[in-house]
Amino acid sequence: MAYVISDACVSCGACESACPTGAISQGDSQFVIDANTCIDCGSCADTCPTGAISQG
Ligand code: SF4
Ligand code: SF4
Repeated sequence: MAYVISDACVSCGACESACPTGAISQGDSQFVIDANTCIDCGSCADTCPTGAISQG
């Protein structure tokens, strides 16, 4: 199961640079995770200041 970003995302961009596989990018209204690229390392969830990222 890949990690997912909820609507608590404030588009700060911290998770994007924390991701080792480049799975995170800026979407239309918030950042999004590509489930096919995510390796479930959890780095993004540890980095997010709003707790918007969790394992889906
Ligand atoms: S869990 Fe790891 S690989 Fe998946 S999006 Fe977050 S930082 Fe990237
Ligand atoms: S670190 Fe959290 S608030 Fe910042 S862009 Fe990523 S999901 Fe959104």
